[in-house]
Amino acid sequence: MSSPALDRRALSDFRALAGRIDGNGPRYTSYPTADRFHNRLGEAGYHAALADCRAAAPAPLSLYLHIPFCENICYYCGCNKVITRDHGRSAKYVHYLAKEMALAAAHIGGRRQVLQSHWGGGTPTFLNPDEMRRVMASLHEHFDLPADGEHSIEIDPRRVDHARMALLAELGFNRVSLGVQDFDPEVQQAIHRVQPFEETRAVVDAARELGFRSVSLDLIYGLPHQTTARFNATVEQVLTLRPDRLSVYSYAHLPHVFKPQRRIDENALPSAGEKLDILVSTIERLTAAGYVYIGMDHFALPDDDLAVAQREGRLQRNFQGYSTHAGYDQLGFGISAIGAVAGRYVQNARTLDEYYASLDAGHLPVMRGFAMNQDDHLRREIIGALMCNGVLDVAQIEARHGIDFAHAFAAELADLDRLAEDGLVRRDPHRIEVTLLGRLLVRRVAMVFDRYLREDAARLPAVQPAANDGVQPVRFVPKYSRVV
Ligand code: SF4
Repeated sequence: MSSPALDRRALSDFRALAGRIDGNGPRYTSYPTADRFHNRLGEAGYHAALADCRAAAPAPLSLYLHIPFCENICYYCGCNKVITRDHGRSAKYVHYLAKEMALAAAHIGGRRQVLQSHWGGGTPTFLNPDEMRRVMASLHEHFDLPADGEHSIEIDPRRVDHARMALLAELGFNRVSLGVQDFDPEVQQAIHRVQPFEETRAVVDAARELGFRSVSLDLIYGLPHQTTARFNATVEQVLTLRPDRLSVYSYAHLPHVFKPQRRIDENALPSAGEKLDILVSTIERLTAAGYVYIGMDHFALPDDDLAVAQREGRLQRNFQGYSTHAGYDQLGFGISAIGAVAGRYVQNARTLDEYYASLDAGHLPVMRGFAMNQDDHLRREIIGALMCNGVLDVAQIEARHGIDFAHAFAAELADLDRLAEDGLVRRDPHRIEVTLLGRLLVRRVAMVFDRYLREDAARLPAVQPAANDGVQPVRFVPKYSRVV
């Protein structure tokens, strides 16, 4: 799919529809989604997946490492993290990460090439330089990480200086992702994350000077004290940094689920209408500044790999979100990390105690997982095509999976036709295309093909009459640690 700019008409239609069509739903970094994982697939299932991976022709891998530690709590946070100032705890964790890598690598056998790696958290830069070197040495001991692969790390700009950025470059990272959220001082106070603009700019400048290939920034809208004018000011500051990629996540206030959010003053949260204005205004400003709308909450400069991959119809999704390398098996290391190997998903234990106990007993610390069947593979391909490239070639799917699409998906096509009436999709017997408007609500389109949601009809929001005057919150799901 080409990536035409979102025009005013699509945004105006979105504003009109947003209160009526629930944009809430899974982010589909996996299909089936992680809330379908179960504890019947434990370590034995992971062993079988790794054995299949070993038996297949050697193919490149993707790796995810979860570093859960943070020095301070951000009140909006929903990640699986450990708040501590005791750096002795990370030394122990690094030791166990090495154990886990050795165990998994022994099952796969040989030194696989890793073309994509990502360190997320928590705060990966909580590790001191020596600990980072040790983790990287463990990776190199078991895997081959070519310098021209994608090797990225999440950075808290409050915790790194030029020397640390130089270390990251020396260790082989070539992409950095910076948490920003908002530059407004009052918003920063309210979320307990004080991070002056100059501090962030110094990190971005260092990344450019040191030759990092990509700099990505995260913002969140819907936070306390945010208004359209104030968030616009943050966006203008961000644009002076010209990040290669930008994520603009929606904050959903769920204090019953995420305890830190209880410290957020609910009375200071923007209304649903104001939130919608912030989002529309941000999309307008970013696209006017030359950013390509990739999908959901992601934007990229036109020459960024993601935008190029989308233009060429080869964008994919994995647990790191949109990706150009999602076809590889992915190994996850660390607490709550998710892997996807040989048609199975696996997720590690969520707590440090469980994680350490499993590894002490010589076991891979798998907590739960899911083995995909043929129907899951088919639907994953359909959802991936719609979410990433906005187009589904029906004949290709029929040929690859030996199905009659119209017969196999009669109920789904009827639902899709209702979304077509609202302008979210266009279709004929050969092709389903997500419109510009549909891209803003693409989760809703993808949900039509989610068999598990269909079976659980109560979870599939119906199109409501136009009585609701506010945008439904799109739940802020932390990017990598709690992916549904
Ligand atoms: S938002 Fe990030 S830095 Fe803040 S507490 Fe959560 S994981 Fe830690």
